[in-house]
Amino acid sequence: MPKIRVWNDNTVPYEEEFGDNNIKILPGKFLDMEADEAIRFIGQYRQPELDGMGNQLVTSMKMLRKEIIEPLFDDGSGNYLRKATSDDFKCNVCGKICVDQEHLDGHINAKHLNDMADKREQTKRMEAINKTKR
Ligand SMILES: [Zn+2]
Repeated sequence: MPKIRVWNDNTVPYEEEFGDNNIKILPGKFLDMEADEAIRFIGQYRQPELDGMGNQLVTSMKMLRKEIIEPLFDDGSGNYLRKATSDDFKCNVCGKICVDQEHLDGHINAKHLNDMADKREQTKRMEAINKTKR
């Protein structure tokens, strides 16, 4: 099941060996890949090819961009590797899907604590945060 859409933002087709495959993406087009595969492919080092003047050939420029096409867990550093298996840990405010209760609590505390309607819940959460800081 595809999870990440890999776009080629270059003006020329992009071609690169990846594992046993030769991946080719036309300019301005995309390829859907498994999330972990897509991240490995985008992160794979490509030796720059130079012209006679020592400038990098545009065909060897890796101008790939990833687009998340399924809700994935964002660990905060741009990695989208794990997917929630159900809506059990879905944020009721913004719809973000979290991987577990701890992640959901952290998300709510970070993003929605100040505008929480339930003041008792808000106080409870603030006290819990202060407790862990001590
Ligand atoms: Zn939220």
